Amino acid sequence: MQCPKDGTTLETRNYLGIEVDACPTCNGMWLDQDELDQLEDQAYDQDAWKGSLMLDSSPTEYKCPHCGNPLRVFRYRMYHSLEIDYCDQGHGFWLDENEEQRVLQLMETRKGDIDRKVEAESAWAGFLKKFRSRSFGTPA
Ligand SMILES: [Zn+2]
Ligand SMILES: [Zn+2]
Repeated sequence: MQCPKDGTTLETRNYLGIEVDACPTCNGMWLDQDELDQLEDQAYDQDAWKGSLMLDSSPTEYKCPHCGNPLRVFRYRMYHSLEIDYCDQGHGFWLDENEEQRVLQLMETRKGDIDRKVEAESAWAGFLKKFRSRSFGTPA
């Protein structure tokens, strides 16, 4: 697969114990469906986040490394400064360099105690579940 941003061949890296496809040039990473499953397996199963995490999304100039369709970008609901690219055909999503760190950092700031940590991790898990549920985006 090639980086949607700069065309560099992606290489396998370990992220939270999961092998993801990362770009050695821009340090972005692609998470595909299998990898989302693995992330979900590690995460908490909580439905509290089933509400619309996705605000409006818009097309980008970048192409899905799987199908070549244009990626779309959405805003991570709580964090309006964080925008993430995804394939609306359900192939996965792209995190630019440090975006995954920003997600974790944002979670960290909410982590006042164990419960909040659980809540933050559930937020991320719920986000992934929401992503996979295809309840946003356009029909295939
Ligand atoms: Zn790249
Ligand atoms: Zn795709």
